[in-house]
This record gives sequence, structure tokens and C-alpha cells, in this order.
Amino acid sequence: MSSAELITLSAADLAERLASGEVSSVEVTRAHLDRIADVDGDVHAFLHVSDHALEVADDIDRRRSAGERLGPVAGVPLAIKDVLVTTDMPSTSGSRILEGYLSPFDATVVARSRAAGLVPLGKTNMDEFAMGSSTEHSAYGPTRNPWDLTRIPGGSGGGSAAAVAAYEAPLALGSDTGGSIRQPAHVTGTVGVKPTYGGVSRYGAIALASSLDQVGPVTRTVLDAGLLHDVIGGHDHHDSTSLTDAWPSFAEAAREGARGDVLKGLRIGVVKELPDSGFQPGVSASFHAALTALEAHGAQIVEISAPHFEYGVAAYYLILPAEASSNLAKFDSVRFGMRVTPHAGATVEEVMAATRDAGFGDEVKRRIILGTYALSAGYYDAYYGSAQKVRTLIQRDFADAFAAVDVIATPSAPTTAFRLGEKIDDPLQMYLNDVTTIPANLAGVPGISIPSGLADDDGLPVGIQFLAPAREDARLYRVGAALEALLVDAWGGPLLARAPKLGEVR
Ligand code: GLN
Repeated sequence: MSSAELITLSAADLAERLASGEVSSVEVTRAHLDRIADVDGDVHAFLHVSDHALEVADDIDRRRSAGERLGPVAGVPLAIKDVLVTTDMPSTSGSRILEGYLSPFDATVVARSRAAGLVPLGKTNMDEFAMGSSTEHSAYGPTRNPWDLTRIPGGSGGGSAAAVAAYEAPLALGSDTGGSIRQPAHVTGTVGVKPTYGGVSRYGAIALASSLDQVGPVTRTVLDAGLLHDVIGGHDHHDSTSLTDAWPSFAEAAREGARGDVLKGLRIGVVKELPDSGFQPGVSASFHAALTALEAHGAQIVEISAPHFEYGVAAYYLILPAEASSNLAKFDSVRFGMRVTPHAGATVEEVMAATRDAGFGDEVKRRIILGTYALSAGYYDAYYGSAQKVRTLIQRDFADAFAAVDVIATPSAPTTAFRLGEKIDDPLQMYLNDVTTIPANLAGVPGISIPSGLADDDGLPVGIQFLAPAREDARLYRVGAALEALLVDAWGGPLLARAPKLGEVR
């Protein structure tokens, strides 16, 4: 099998060929490393490429030939968002302040991936400390969207999404605090899942906002997302918010969705307060076309009311900075990473201030200032307190909606990939890009974004998001796989096959 073929196969297909001995993990891993060498100069999805991926792959091959029973995805390469700490590669969370930082332990999701035989290829680029929707806030330069290198790949996990979209990795890990898995999936024509809060361990995920953060899969197919979710999910005693549920197999749920009749009678809620007017016409058109396809296959589209969703962005941009200002206090020049001594005999406060000034970028500073202000004694009730009340109202909107429908559908973001530089100086416009993804984080419910097509106004990918009640992640895999199967059928192949060839776009 040629390298060109190997890099376009899904993880599920690779896993089958690895299990049958048709290909080796070394061949598969080498094909991806070669692809990274070919295209990552343009895409810049990776901050670090592993020096020992081939050794790891070789070890898997040997164990397989020695007759060891390996997990279902053993030997498949994996890209890891740099927010997740790793012992063998630096973990910077996209920040200067952690440049070169080596963790003494692996994040639980990384440890589980290694134990499952996945082969870490490297660490992917991201907005600094996962703050952003474009990956332009990375201290190491932006990632570019493989569909059009002048455009953003989404954020904060633009590196993971671009790596998967550019065939540099079949699987990637992301984190989603307000949409950082789902919005990059939307703009790159890939699949992203934000699990139920507590469904996947956050241990070793460098915290942005602890009550919102979730780690999840970034892939090209719904089945691949399920396979990766099965590897990383489940209880972890290192994370006090980790749920103890016995989760079903999400890969099995995806397989069921792809072959079964799950759409018959499925009640899909559409939020009436999310007006088409706030959305790019091509995004709305793609969304409505997907709903029509779902309806044609027996689903019922039900208008629901979620009157507080529109306050989600405002509440989130108080709660997130509040939690982030506290979480980022640990980067104090004493315990982690960079230390700047402004002059001989500087006091510890002067060293801390100089280090944080040099180590943090503008967006991080903006949010620390916002969060510190929102938590300060005189303003706590007016800002943080009010935001928490809005959060409760959004949770109630979800509870009411899910009494009437099985899933909620929205466009995954209001626009397609915008141009690099377009919103970087306008934080509010950047924040408004998260309008449809944020409610899920505020309520802790799971969400999936899958490609719904290309926008008819600019030809760029669009995603549809499904949301389900907490703990019902499997429902998202069933519905997502069912819609994916019909769309891929209608398109005559996956959406990504229509992306311009890298090397031909500039
Ligand atoms: N775009 C959102 C933000 O800037 C989402 C971030 C995330 O999910 N990590 O906060």
C-alpha cells in the first residue's frame, strides 16, 4: 500500500489492516511522519514531532507478531494537543511561559492512549492556554487551514483539527472549554466530540477553566471518534470530577448509527432563539439542508425554546476568565517554566511580574485582568455571581428542551473559516464565534460536530452540531454516524476528499 493511501485511510480501516498484518505500524507511522515533513511547513499543525514514534510503532509490531492480544486501535498514530502533558515531549499549552517544559507524568488520556497501543506523533499547536477560536493566539505562530492556507483552522485546537484534515494524523486529542474541539472541526471538515463533563479525565490537561474543560477526540469519521473516546474515557481517581459511570462503547454506538434506523422517530430540537440572521447564509443553508435530509429519513424537527442561550457568551466570558485567572496563578516563575530576572537584586514580586509580563501573550493577560476584576470583592456579585445565575438558567433551558426532544441541532459555528488576521484585533468578534458551542460547556452536556457540507457562498466546510443530555454521549455517536452515512452517500465520498490538494493552495 502506498503512503498516499495509508494517510487517507480512517483509523478504523488502518486498525483492520494492522490487525490482519496487511500493513505494519512502522509503515503507517512512517507514512504520517513523511506527510508531516511534506506539508507541515505550510500548515504548522505541530509544535513538536516525536523522535521516537517509529520505535513505539516497532514495539507494537513486535508485540503483535509475538502473538500478544492488542487493543482495537493498536499501532494507529495519534496527534496530541499541547495542552495535554507528556513525559517524552515538551508541553507548552501554546505559551512562551512553558517553553520546553517537560512534565514528570503523562496526562491520563495520554497514558491510556499509550496503553492502547496508539503511537504519539507529536504535540499540536493551539491558542495560548486554549484561549481563542483561531489558533492565532499561539505564542509559536498560527496554524493554517488545510482547505485554504490564508484562513484560520479554528481554535483553540486548530493544530489537532488541521493535522487530521491535512492527513498528518488519523486521530487527534483536543480539549473543549467553550468549543475548541467542535469549532475547529466545523471549519476544517472534520469530526469533533466534547464528551459529557466528567466523562473523560482532565488529569494532566493544563487547566483553562476547570468547571468547563473537557478532553475529547478529533477525527475524520464518527466511528474513529468513538474508537478514540473508548480508549480515553471512563473513571479516573486522579480527577475528582470524573464520573464513575460504566460507559457503553461509543464505537459500537457509531456502528449502530451507521447501519440502523436510528433516525426514525428521532426528535431533533431546533432552538428558535438562534435566528438565521446571526449566521453566514451559506452556514444556515447547509444546516437546513442537513435537517431536511434528517427529516426525509424519519426524524422529526421540533422547534424548542432556549431563551437563555443568547446570554451564554456573556456569562462564559466572565466565568472562564475568573477560573482562568485563578488557574494561571501557578505560573509564577518559581514552580514552572520561564523565569525573568529584571535586574540584579530583584524581589520575588518583581521576578514574578517580569516573568508573567514576558511569558504571557495579550489574550491571556486580557483574560487574567478580566477574571481578577470579575472576582474582586466589590464586583463579585454583579459579575461572577450573575454569570453563575445565567449558567443555571441555561442548564434549565437544556432540561426543558430535553423533556421534549432527543437531541438539539445547531450549526457548529456562525461562520466558515475566516481569514487569518481578520478578527485578531477584535476580541468581541472572536468571542461571538462561540455562540453555539458555549451552552454545552456551561451545562456540562456532550456535543458532536460533523461536516454538513460546503457553504454555497464561499465553498468552505460547515459543521452541524448535535447536543444530548449529560451521559447520553452514545446518542450523539448514533445520530452523528447516521447523518454522516447519508451525507457521504449523497456526496459520493467524504467531504474532505473535496478539499483542494495541499501544495496547490497557498
Ligand atoms: N473560543 C473559546 C475561548 O476562547 C473556547 C476555548 C476552548 O474551548 N478552549 O475561550
